[in-house]
Amino acid sequence: MPTNTIPEVQHPTTPEPAYVLRGLGLFELCAGEILASYQGGGRYIVPSGTAANTLYEVRVGTRPERNRCECRGWSAHHHCSHLIAAERVAKKSGVCDGCGERRWDRELVEVIEDHDSLTWFVGDRLCGGCLSAHGGIS
Ligand SMILES: [Zn+2]
Ligand SMILES: [Zn+2]
Repeated sequence: MPTNTIPEVQHPTTPEPAYVLRGLGLFELCAGEILASYQGGGRYIVPSGTAANTLYEVRVGTRPERNRCECRGWSAHHHCSHLIAAERVAKKSGVCDGCGERRWDRELVEVIEDHDSLTWFVGDRLCGGCLSAHGGIS
């Protein structure tokens, strides 16, 4: 008896909207700049992808409804490429528990076990500068 197999549902791959693609492009070009611009409180300065010398302050909120951007696209549609770029930077970075600077995740080392130094706690994430300034965590 032949077994009927249910054909797998093919989800058509929806192309990303243009503002998402532009945001990813901005991230590729300016990720370092955006990270270095971190203002605290989820705020970043993101360059315009189209107008030279134009910068927008973007806030990546702890919840999506707290996101915002200064640009006109945001006030019209509540989405824009700047937020996409800043969100991606936020996702891939964290704040060093030593110096408070924002760094890429790959540059942060998590303190995973107790050590003699009382400077750091297990779970702290530290940048290379803080680690070497305190003689490492071994
Ligand atoms: Zn924007
Ligand atoms: Zn640090």
